[in-house]
Amino acid sequence: MKKILLVDDSEVLRKIVSFNLKKAGYEVVEAENGKVALERLQEFVPDLVVLDIMMPVMDGFSVLRKMQEREEWKKIPVIVLTAKGGEEDETIALSLGAKRVIRKPFSPSQFLAEVERLLHEREGNP
Ligand SMILES: [Mg+2]
Repeated sequence: MKKILLVDDSEVLRKIVSFNLKKAGYEVVEAENGKVALERLQEFVPDLVVLDIMMPVMDGFSVLRKMQEREEWKKIPVIVLTAKGGEEDETIALSLGAKRVIRKPFSPSQFLAEVERLLHEREGNP
């Protein structure tokens, strides 16, 4: 079973996204901020990270920077979630190694399609 690390400070968003990912057959581990996300990454290497940008304690940009510092983390594909009007955040996230940026609000089906596409690409099947 593929493991996804879901990082967002909104409990409501985590609940909805986690529900949809689990329904699609993924194992989901949640983190409420960047600091907790890095702690989880010490415990296991997920197949994919879903990462919010605006979070207390440690934001998504800091997580992306940290992930670039370690070989095993660098390889993990990251989908970044940004708020409305976050064009600048989008550019920065991509420059820091994020593979995709999805703007909130997004539909569960659109989100799942991106997750599947990205995991598929990672397996080397374009
Ligand atoms: Mg947030």
